[in-house]
Amino acid sequence: MDIVLFEIHEVLGIQEQHLKDNRLSFHQQPQVEELRVVDFDFEGKPFVLISETARAWSQMRQAALEDGVALLPFSGFRSYIHQKILIERHLKNGRRIEDILTHIAIPGFSEHHSGRAVDIHAEGKPVLEEEFERTDAFAWLTENANQFEFRLSYPRGNSLGIIYEPWHWFYTGL
Ligand SMILES: [Zn+2]
Repeated sequence: MDIVLFEIHEVLGIQEQHLKDNRLSFHQQPQVEELRVVDFDFEGKPFVLISETARAWSQMRQAALEDGVALLPFSGFRSYIHQKILIERHLKNGRRIEDILTHIAIPGFSEHHSGRAVDIHAEGKPVLEEEFERTDAFAWLTENANQFEFRLSYPRGNSLGIIYEPWHWFYTGL
């Protein structure tokens, strides 16, 4: 593992035992040249993916649109440092690291680091909420995402120690 990651873990108070309990896979950050700004989310933040995933995402989004369904991008690529900041925000609010790690991966273990994961939301609905599963967008994805080689990473009751995330999809076509 990257030396930067050891330092990040230390700062966050992530210990040997947290890493032992972790059931998520390690994801290396791509080189900057591999990343593409594909779109902007509704907050105006760039939505970034690696090229192959960007292509598959655009095709899937277009196909959904042709069926009258809008798949809106939220988070794509996220760096180790960005992951650290997300966790620090929760620590500052007084939450325990063990609780935080049920919905935010240990830096190094988020699929978002790979530039192949997308958080999707539906127009007018809150982002990153379980109610995404009751939208047309989710119904469409459940039916069609596999044709574009995207899969749901954290289904309900998954054995990875991560909460149910109907909005989080990962590109497997590499
Ligand atoms: Zn996600």
